[in-house]
Formats: sequence, C-alpha cells, structure tokens
Amino acid sequence: MLPSMLKMKCPNCRKGHMFTNKSIFPLGKLLDMPERCPVCGQKMELEVGFYYGTGYVSYALSVGLFFFNLIWYWGLIGLSYKDNSIFYYLITSVTIVLLLQPWLMRISRVLYLYMFVKYGKGNTMKSEE
Ligand SMILES: [Zn+2]
Repeated sequence: MLPSMLKMKCPNCRKGHMFTNKSIFPLGKLLDMPERCPVCGQKMELEVGFYYGTGYVSYALSVGLFFFNLIWYWGLIGLSYKDNSIFYYLITSVTIVLLLQPWLMRISRVLYLYMFVKYGKGNTMKSEE
C-alpha cells in the first residue's frame, strides 16, 4: 500500500495515476486530477469540496517535517546554543518544507483519498457505465 501511495496511484486499483500530470510542473496544474481513475473508474473527488480538509493535512505534514529535520540535523550537524546552528537549522528546514510543498500538497490529497477508498472496494461505477 505504501509504495502505491508514494507513487500517488489510485487507492482502488493502485494502477491509475491520481494526478493528470505525473510531474509537478507546470505548478499551476499541480493539483489537477482526472474526474475518474483512467484504469478503474474510481471517482477522484468523492464529493464537492472533498479536498477542503487537505490544507490541514499538508500543514500537519509540514510540522512533522520540521521535527524530522530537527532529528537528522541534530544527529548530523549538531545543535548548540553557542553558535548559529539553530538559525541554520531553521533556514534549512524552511527551505526543505517550501521545496517539498508541492509534493506535500499532493501527498495530503493522496492520504485523504486513501482514508476513504479501500483497495478493491472502491466505487468502480462499472454498473453505471
Ligand atoms: Zn483506479
């Protein structure tokens, strides 16, 4: 399940791509999703405003990333009150979080959909077609 989440595949069939563009560029189309999964027909937006809450998810992920950065920075470079290391940590962390923001916005949508659509039990809509 985790690999297909990281590859941002459809939660129902794990084959179709959740986003129209594989690449995050152009950034303007970053969050463009097909209405339905091209492989199994799973709806990508379960209801209008379905992804409204993902802002909080990406926010939580950003905060988590700050702590994750703190751990490796502390282990690798070391934090001390005696020099500017905390300042550098903050700069590094903010940069990483900003650079990963497009990815975080996507992965929070993926997480969101995975919470609601279980593998093989999604709404395939085959009966409607
Ligand atoms: Zn699918």
